[in-house]
Amino acid sequence: MAPADAPRRGSRWTLAICICAILLFAGLSIAVISGALDHRYFGGAPVQRPLVVALLINAALVIFGWRRHRAVQIEMDGRSAAEERARMLASRDPLTGFLNRRALSEAGAALLRAASRRDQAVAMLIVDLDHFKMVNDMHGHAAGDAVLRSAAVEIAAVMPAAALTARFGGDAFACAFVFDARDPSTVEHVASRVIAALTKPIEVEDLRIHMTSSIGVARSDFDGGGIDTLLRAADIAMYCAKKSGRGGFTWFNRAMEHALIDRNDIENGLRLAIPAGQVVPFFEPQIDLATGRLCGFEVLARWVHPTQGTIPPDRFIPVAEESGLIAELSLSIMRQAFAAARDWDPGLSLSVNISPCQLRDAWLAQKIIKATVEGGFAPNRLEIEITESALFDNLALAQSIVGSLKNQGVRLALDDFGTGYSSLAHLRALPFDRIKIDKSFVLSLLDNADSAAIVNAIIGLGANLNLPVTAEGVETGTIAERLAALGCSKAQGWHYSKPLSVADTRRMLAARGLLAHGGAPDTDLTDLTIRRQVG
Ligand code: C2E
Ligand code: CA
Ligand code: CA
Repeated sequence: MAPADAPRRGSRWTLAICICAILLFAGLSIAVISGALDHRYFGGAPVQRPLVVALLINAALVIFGWRRHRAVQIEMDGRSAAEERARMLASRDPLTGFLNRRALSEAGAALLRAASRRDQAVAMLIVDLDHFKMVNDMHGHAAGDAVLRSAAVEIAAVMPAAALTARFGGDAFACAFVFDARDPSTVEHVASRVIAALTKPIEVEDLRIHMTSSIGVARSDFDGGGIDTLLRAADIAMYCAKKSGRGGFTWFNRAMEHALIDRNDIENGLRLAIPAGQVVPFFEPQIDLATGRLCGFEVLARWVHPTQGTIPPDRFIPVAEESGLIAELSLSIMRQAFAAARDWDPGLSLSVNISPCQLRDAWLAQKIIKATVEGGFAPNRLEIEITESALFDNLALAQSIVGSLKNQGVRLALDDFGTGYSSLAHLRALPFDRIKIDKSFVLSLLDNADSAAIVNAIIGLGANLNLPVTAEGVETGTIAERLAALGCSKAQGWHYSKPLSVADTRRMLAARGLLAHGGAPDTDLTDLTIRRQVG
């Protein structure tokens, strides 16, 4: 028997003894009273002294037994309250009172069984607050906790009465409820109401915090075996909802799972590929449109995979950004590019792409400058390309990083101009030296009037702000001529060359006489004899 049963047994025993004592007391009392009456009125023998003593002892026993029974009862009540509290603590999230993960697994399994008996389905929603980390970082953890509590209240208010609601640490909530499988619109209705409820501003002391949320939805009849499979499916869908713009909900589908597996393979592969030197720089020539001369290269990453061939950056750069590998990747690419360029004509520049998330690293400028020093590459030959989105996160930090780089002579280009906000304010936020027009406009310059107008406007803007413009995606001579006529200063694209490997770039430079001493690497750049460039 469990130790917790001991007081209950004790209480039963004291109660039983009490009852026996009371019965005995009743019996003795009757004997003593009737003996006393008999003696008083009918001259019978007086009540025997031992009987009176027994009665008194019995009375004491009843009082003692009863008090003991009460004490045991109070102890038992205290214990069951403590047990109840412990059960609550073990199954509930203390901040919101929602279930925790383990409790949701248990209750969810029961819900699934009940639904399948009634031929119904269970919908699982994973609700994740967008950019919640920023609330913690900017306003502190107390504000973060207040936001989570308020979100829990809003979610609970919108959920159907019998829904299970849980919080999984951080800012992820899970909700499960039974629905009629023939009418999934009821689930969509609930998801939309949660999204709407969570956009209400949250008052925390004197702050008004505005949040949005993303929801992934899975259903047991399509997506789930057990509760864990269902949770995973909803989680994958939530991740996709975030990727497709946040502030909405998405149903899970199998393609998402394959994409996630693919993404994880890329992340795991990259962790090994970067130190193994499989992610290498390719070089896309940049041409001065006025003279037709080669003036430098844009450095573009390629993953030369041992079995899958060359993987383009669009497949692995976003994964590197999400997984925090981009800093290592970027510096590795720069080091290789500087090493490759050691004996190139010093008039040739290199433009490297910097991801927005790299501008959150306060040491970025120092790391880049260190790489140029170690690689023997003059910082004034380096240009970094950033996109407008890099300006949103922490402009002050971006300004300080860019300031340090510019002090060393590094130039700054605004990449993909025309695709994002294309705002004048953004152009002024950092000391840009150049604007790059996105290839989407350049590719269709001759056959799309809108593209032509945008290209025209950007080149005009550059002229007014005294910022030279580079056009990327130049695939034909006619486009190059048109860009030159409009006043664009530099161009790059397949008309000139596709991005080249280190070896092909070297061959091309050797053919143009742009390698020192026919290409022998030299550590002292000042001693290099550089032949004049030829277009
Ligand atoms: P991006 O910076 O806009 O780079 C230009 C892209 O346009 C390159 O694609 C280039 O190969 C392609 N391109 C150039 N000329 C032409 C042309 O005439 N026609 C067409 N159709 N395409 C042309 P790529 O190399 O696939 O790079 C894609 C994107 O990946 C880059 O866009 C850049 O955002 C990113 N990326 C590449 N390397 C790095 C890197 O080392 N670090 C970071 N952070 N991002 C990188
Ligand atoms: Ca670029
Ligand atoms: Ca671009």
